Amino acid sequence: MTIVSNWSNYPKVNSKLYGITSKAELSQKLKLNGDYIVRGNGRCYGDASLNDSILSCLPMNKFLSFDTETGIIEVQSGVLLDDILKVTVPKHWFLPVTPGTKFITIGGAVASDVHGKNHHLEGSISNHIISLEIMLADGSTVSCSRTNNKDLFWATCGGMGLTGIILSVKFMLKPIKSAFIAQKSYKAQSLDEILELFERTSGSTYSVAWIDCLKGGKHFGRSLLFTGEHYDPESGKVKLKEPFKTHSDPIINIPFNFPGIALNKYTIKLFNMVYYNKLMGSSKESIDHYDPFFYPLDAILNWNRMYGKRGFTQYQFVLPISEKKGLEKILRRIQSEGMGSFLAVLKVFGEQNDLISFPMKGYTLALDFAIHPKLFSFLNELDEMVLSYGGRIYMTKDSRMNKDFFWKSYSRLEEFVEIIKKYNPEAKINSLLSKRLEII
Ligand SMILES: Cc1cc2nc3c(=O)[nH]c(=O)nc-3n(C[C@H](O)[C@H](O)[C@H](O)COP(=O)(O)OP(=O)(O)OC[C@H]3O[C@@H](n4cnc5c(N)ncnc54)[C@H](O)[C@@H]3O)c2cc1C
Repeated sequence: MTIVSNWSNYPKVNSKLYGITSKAELSQKLKLNGDYIVRGNGRCYGDASLNDSILSCLPMNKFLSFDTETGIIEVQSGVLLDDILKVTVPKHWFLPVTPGTKFITIGGAVASDVHGKNHHLEGSISNHIISLEIMLADGSTVSCSRTNNKDLFWATCGGMGLTGIILSVKFMLKPIKSAFIAQKSYKAQSLDEILELFERTSGSTYSVAWIDCLKGGKHFGRSLLFTGEHYDPESGKVKLKEPFKTHSDPIINIPFNFPGIALNKYTIKLFNMVYYNKLMGSSKESIDHYDPFFYPLDAILNWNRMYGKRGFTQYQFVLPISEKKGLEKILRRIQSEGMGSFLAVLKVFGEQNDLISFPMKGYTLALDFAIHPKLFSFLNELDEMVLSYGGRIYMTKDSRMNKDFFWKSYSRLEEFVEIIKKYNPEAKINSLLSKRLEII
């Protein structure tokens, strides 16, 4: 038995963890008694890849094919985005969608149907998938796509590993003219201003805002917005020495858990003030490598230890685009409670994908909260607000929402459950998350 937790270090469970190296081994394991959940790199925040028995796909990490002419790639599910970038960027191809860390597996990316800073224009990872190969709970292998076994395809994209084990993913990369991003940074003095800026820059491929959730008064909602486009050196703005340079490994490591007291509203306020004032003037343009643009936190290995040994949770919700007032009310409630996070990230989503994917057309806000005795009752209160504005919470970040709230907030759950029952009839594949939310 090993103590296992995901990125937020909450919850921690005693589990049997098996590394899976081949299809044959996986199929054998599934034929034995017991139930399992599959795990990628444990970068989901909560309990989605936790159970008494866990099958780790990390050893299934081979590249199966990569056509450098068309940008079509097929990899086993345990391959990290980190490794894909190292192979594809020198060949002038980039990930079509990437979350805020590159240390996730492609299997995990599909199971959460991850989104990036380009969802408003380019959707989530499922928009770019050609086909998936999946091992079902009975050990058989099937492939699926938008046209072949499409129920399985849509219930797997965002289905949190409950339909079966993704063995490999074939998807379309995005052509790039360099490994650099033409970035624009803007300062917004208030929430109204940042929402207006999002609207004004809606044609930008990438956009993301950091919001100071502890600031009250007339600067309530002050933020920094970052937009970006893949940089074309032919535009002549900046000469690049190594146009297709890949990223380096992290150099800073947090070697131990910080004492719980280190992150409190005073230290977060201080961080926010310094961060906000980093940008002099109201806007700035720069040419930056993709690594700091997409993955600023990857530079610090184990930054999750800053929240201390009790861990933390990430609260990420989305509200429909018309509910700007709702966003303001929820933020005001967080601000009045003085419970902020120094990483409060605001993004805009485009249209919803089929079935169980988290994004819907609207604004999504993600905040980290250190675990403490009063936290969960406060988050239950926020859930009620989110629900009243027609929103929902991202399962991959969650470890505590209750099943009533969950079932009210995702509108196509019954269909999703029917598909799971078809492919995983004895619920042999399940997780702490699926049990907590009574999905199966
Ligand atoms: C710093 C940070 C930033 C992030 N930013 C974003 C973001 O911007 N956008 C976003 O969408 N997400 C974001 N995430 C969340 C992260 O992208 C997802 O949780 C992702 O699913 C983690 O993948 P993983 O390989 O670590 O899988 P795990 O965390 O181990 O598992 C996640 C889910 O995938 C399932 N799974 C894993 N492998 C397989 C497989 N082979 N077959 C079937 N199911 C499988 C698991 O059962 C589980 O349900 C972020 C996470 C971190 C830590």
